[in-house]
Amino acid sequence: MYSSLIDPLRGIGRESVSAAVSSKFVEESVKLVYGSDSVVVKDGRVAGVQALSGTGACRLFAEFQRHFHPDSCIYLPDPTWSKYDLLLIISLQFLLKFIVQCLNLFFNYIDEIQLYSSRSHHNIWKDAQVPDRTFHYYDPDSKGLNFSALIDDVKNAPDGSFFLLHPCAHNPTGVDPTEEQWREISYQFKVKNHFPFFDMAYQGFASGDLDKDARAIRIFLKDDHLVGCAQSFAKNMGLYGHRVGCLSILCADSNQVGSIRSQLQRIARAMYSSPPVHGVLLVSTILSDPYLKSLWIEEVKTMANRIRGMRTTLQDSLERLDSPLNWEHITNQVGMFCFSGLTPDQVDRLAREFHIYMTHDGRISMAGVTTGNVSYLANAIHETTR
Ligand code: PMP
Repeated sequence: MYSSLIDPLRGIGRESVSAAVSSKFVEESVKLVYGSDSVVVKDGRVAGVQALSGTGACRLFAEFQRHFHPDSCIYLPDPTWSKYDLLLIISLQFLLKFIVQCLNLFFNYIDEIQLYSSRSHHNIWKDAQVPDRTFHYYDPDSKGLNFSALIDDVKNAPDGSFFLLHPCAHNPTGVDPTEEQWREISYQFKVKNHFPFFDMAYQGFASGDLDKDARAIRIFLKDDHLVGCAQSFAKNMGLYGHRVGCLSILCADSNQVGSIRSQLQRIARAMYSSPPVHGVLLVSTILSDPYLKSLWIEEVKTMANRIRGMRTTLQDSLERLDSPLNWEHITNQVGMFCFSGLTPDQVDRLAREFHIYMTHDGRISMAGVTTGNVSYLANAIHETTR
C-alpha cells in the first residue's frame, strides 16, 4: 500500500504521501503508550502528530505550551536528560579554566556554562521561551529516588503546573519510581491539577516489555488525567538518524482532537514545514503488521535482557575485584544508562588512561558494554576508584 504511495513515478504529490504515512504512524504509535485496548484510543481522544524524534516532540510541545499557557513554566526532574558533547565540554572547560586562572575569576562560572551547554530538556524549554524549574528526583546518597522530596515539590508547585516526567528508564540516572510511587505521584498530581508531560524516549529498555514500560502513563490514565507524551523511535527501533517521533496530547473529548492537532501542525509548519517520510514509513509498516511487530517486540526484549546481563556482570566483576565501594546501584538502576557515581576527575582519568568515555556526570551507556569489554571496564573503574 505504502510503496505505491511513495513511488514518485506514479506522480503522487509528496503532501498526500506524508499525510497518509503520518496518520497511520500516529495511530500505531499512540497504541504503544496508551495501550491498544485503551478507552482513550478507542474513543478517539488522542491528538497526535509526527515529530522530529523525541527532541522534536518535546520542542513542539514546549512551543504549544508557550502559545496556549504563556504564563506557565515547566518543572523538570533534577537531574534530567543531558547532552554532553564530550569534546566540546572538555575543550571548553580547559580553555575556560585557563582563562579564568589567568584572570583569577571564580570557578562557578565554568560550572554554569558547562551546565547550560549540557542540559537538553532545559535548553529545549528555554529556547521555546518557557521558564524552567526543577523538582527533586535523584538522591546521590542512596543513588535512588528522593521520593519524599519529589512529592513535596509536587505539593508545593502552584496548582495546574506543567511537569515533565520520564515514564521509564530515566535519563541519566536509570532510577524509576516503583508502581506504588507512581500511583502516589498520579494522586498528588490530581489533587494539584498538574499537567504531566511524559517524555518516552526508551520504551522497552527498562523491563524489555513495552506495556510494562508504559505502566506509569497507564496509571495516570486510570486516574483520568489529561496528559501529553513525546515518543522517540531512535533507540527502540534503532532509527536515530531518521528522526522518527510522535507527540500526542490526550484531550477531554474527541471534539477537541481536530483543533489541538491542527494547532500542533500549524506550529510545526512554521518551524520545519513537514517531517521526513522514510523512517516513519519503516515504523508504521512494522507496527501495523502483527508478524513484523512481534519480531520487533522480541528484539526489544533481547536487547533489554542483554543490557540487564551486562549490569550484573559489571557489578559482579567489581565485587570480585574486592572493590571497597558498594556497586548495587548498577543493577538497581534500569534502562540504557548507569549513573555510576564516578566523579568528574575519575571520569577524566578513565578517558585519559584507559580510553573509556562517558558523560562527565559519570553516566555510562550500558548499551556499549559487551562481554568483550566488561572486564576491562571493571578493572579500569576499580583502578580509578580504589
Ligand atoms: N528524551 C530523553 C529522556 C532522552 O534521553 C533523549 C535522547 N537521548 C531524548 C528525549 C531525545 O531523543 P531523540 O534522539 O529521539 O531526539
